[in-house]
Amino acid sequence: MNLRTTLALVGLGLATASAFAQSAPVLNLYSARHYSTDEALYANFTKATGIRIQRVDADDAGILARLQTEGSSSPADVVLLVDAARLWRAQVDGLFLPVKSATLEAVIPAHLRAKPETDGRSTWFGFSTRARVVVYDKTKLKAEDVDTYEKLAEPKNKGRLCTRSGSHPYNLSLFGSMVEHIGPQKTEAWLRGLVGNMARAPKGGDTDQIRAVASGECGAALTNSYYLARLLRSNKPEDKAVVERIGIVFPNQASWGTHVNIAGGAVARHSRNTAAAVQFLEYLASPEAQRYFADGNNEWPVAKGVSFDNPALKAMTGGAAFKAEVIPTSVVGMNQVKVQQMLDRVGFR
Ligand code: FE
Repeated sequence: MNLRTTLALVGLGLATASAFAQSAPVLNLYSARHYSTDEALYANFTKATGIRIQRVDADDAGILARLQTEGSSSPADVVLLVDAARLWRAQVDGLFLPVKSATLEAVIPAHLRAKPETDGRSTWFGFSTRARVVVYDKTKLKAEDVDTYEKLAEPKNKGRLCTRSGSHPYNLSLFGSMVEHIGPQKTEAWLRGLVGNMARAPKGGDTDQIRAVASGECGAALTNSYYLARLLRSNKPEDKAVVERIGIVFPNQASWGTHVNIAGGAVARHSRNTAAAVQFLEYLASPEAQRYFADGNNEWPVAKGVSFDNPALKAMTGGAAFKAEVIPTSVVGMNQVKVQQMLDRVGFR
């Protein structure tokens, strides 16, 4: 074989390979789900459909900013966010494409997806839920000291509270729900109480707060449930020691219920691949994916009747169901500007 023939064959090979790459369907996913275990979730979709996932990772705010900047030239097909208020914000800003899916409507409870538009199409869909719970130092406190969000701001808990930044979406959504439950004036007084009770200035993520409770630096802290579940499932001796020292409370069981946030998704406004995008969202609502949210990432599935084995989720609730608040997501979203202004006034960084 002479050199020219070899080059021609190599050229042919390249042409075939690139033609294949172009014909293999690709879904561009913009994801704020910062969980390495999600790889399995995406791989299973590719295995079942042959559609490759090309992922862009950023936090909720980063993804929204990117979609705004890219406008109609955005390659995004599917957007996954991890906060109800951000999903609502993106909807209001017109970043999502409303879709009609009988599957999604059948599986996902109405209060965990966007209110349908007048033509019956919906923008975003919640696929999993997470509770904002309280952990406390069992050597110093009792569950009764911190079994409501209101109690965290009471004088008896002075010098005990640790939390991540007040402006983080997980906290903004909790505070936005408080506005709905007790009104703006009481919420601002409550936030002032939280600031007055802090053991240290807000810093770190939720897991850092749990560790700080276990080390004795803080008496109590707020955390999303899946961070806690991760520690409960860990075999590392240092994590076992953390779990040994802390108690877990699902706040407000005797009143409106524990604040619950959602992780959810939508079809991007300018997707050129909407059929595959809807197919992906429907996959996330399938029993297999729903079970994954529980067993893989310690979240609760939104679909009814999905069985899962996650021992940490069972341990956290004692195997029973807990009372979760039921409020319209749009309200939490709309309260966010108000809440941010309150945080500035009370000095909650
Ligand atoms: Fe998170």
